[in-house]
Amino acid sequence: MDCLFCKLVNGDIPAKILYQDDDVIAFEDIAPQAPTHFLVIPKRHISTLNDLTIEDAALVGKLPITAAKIAKEKGLSDDGYRVVMNCNEMGGQTVYHIHMHVLGGRAMTWPPG
Ligand code: 5GP
Ligand code: ZN
Repeated sequence: MDCLFCKLVNGDIPAKILYQDDDVIAFEDIAPQAPTHFLVIPKRHISTLNDLTIEDAALVGKLPITAAKIAKEKGLSDDGYRVVMNCNEMGGQTVYHIHMHVLGGRAMTWPPG
């Protein structure tokens, strides 16, 4: 499978890993859009949000829980932060292995562009 994030999970490309367990891995985004910008992904390949089934509920539920745990460790909990999941082209998805963006350290605007 020619997937960038599967390669990252397998250690074939380097990453600044913040956390991992059997199910998920979190790492710094290579092109940060905020003072803090990391990604949380399932280790198992899932291309887009459209591919999720109810069997994935527990796995995907770990994404925001992991995001919040790391955000807390980074001292972002009180000020706040944003989580984003982009789906397909119009949603701004560029890597087709689902991922939760976590951005913090500056005020966010709404609606996003
Ligand atoms: P998307 O646009 O699919 O929602 O987000 C993909 C994210 O992956 C982008 O924020 C991009 O900077 C990040 N990214 C792309 N390639 C790499 C890489 O090789 N390593 C890391 N750590 N992040 C990457
Ligand atoms: Zn993948």
